[in-house]
Amino acid sequence: MKKTTDKIIIENLEVYANHGVYEEENVLGQKFIISAELEISTRKAGISDALVLSVDYTMVCRIISTFLKEHTYSLIEAAAENLALLLFAKINELKGIKLTIKKPWAPIGLPIEYVAVSIERRWHRAYVAIGSNMGDKLKYLEGAVSAIKNDVNCRLKRVSDIIVTEPYGPVEQDDFMNGCMMLDTLYTPMELLRFLQKLENDANRVREEHWGPRTLDLDILLYDDLVTTDEELVIPHPEMHKRSFVLEPLNQIAPNVVHPLLNKRIRDLL
Ligand code: ADP
Ligand code: MG
Repeated sequence: MKKTTDKIIIENLEVYANHGVYEEENVLGQKFIISAELEISTRKAGISDALVLSVDYTMVCRIISTFLKEHTYSLIEAAAENLALLLFAKINELKGIKLTIKKPWAPIGLPIEYVAVSIERRWHRAYVAIGSNMGDKLKYLEGAVSAIKNDVNCRLKRVSDIIVTEPYGPVEQDDFMNGCMMLDTLYTPMELLRFLQKLENDANRVREEHWGPRTLDLDILLYDDLVTTDEELVIPHPEMHKRSFVLEPLNQIAPNVVHPLLNKRIRDLL
């Protein structure tokens, strides 16, 4: 997603809560100090001077405070991770967040001002190809689309029409149904791959022959402007620019997106 340099900043909000690995911490509680930098465009609110066009920081502080009081985590890492997830779910306009949780009374038996964790999370724009050529194909495709739609780490933005294509390659097999999705995701590329592989497995996909028939195939085409050098995960997908069954549906939902290695728009690649 496009970065904005605007921020709404909450500095050192105090919350008395019960996080910690020791039982005493869970029972007695202690002070936590939270800082948050919300990456959010303040431009419209700035021009109009209208609260409805901004994010109400009173509400944000209440969400943070309530969440940390109502849950008990062993680790402030987990508290921060889950709090970030909640803020992304609650605040539509939120593009990214830097969240710091300080623990000034951490029971470490040494004089210290505080210990803290600080995390940065943001939405990433990804394009995913979906395909099926076995069994109830449409059902598998729709299943994958709705699983992505319902995942808290994803926001499904667009889905192309499904096209029917003849298989190519060495294996004799049934026609394919192919499509593409545009989504925003909080997953790292590897987490997204694992998530998609889990959906493939849930669709009874058995990895038999390479290029062979499959109930569900989910490939990551693009992830922001990322170019990986990984063995297991190649982004941009190495075959995408050669495959009309990828480019056709992708062009329908993202004709102006630029392939970061070929430096060409999808419409031109098609
Ligand atoms: P294909 O999609 O090429 O027909 P598979 O779905 O069986 O084949 O995927 C084989 C492997 O491709 C996966 O184990 C995965 O690690 C790897 N892979 C590499 N890059 C990607 C990508 N961008 N998206 C999905 N899988 C990828
Ligand atoms: Mg695949």
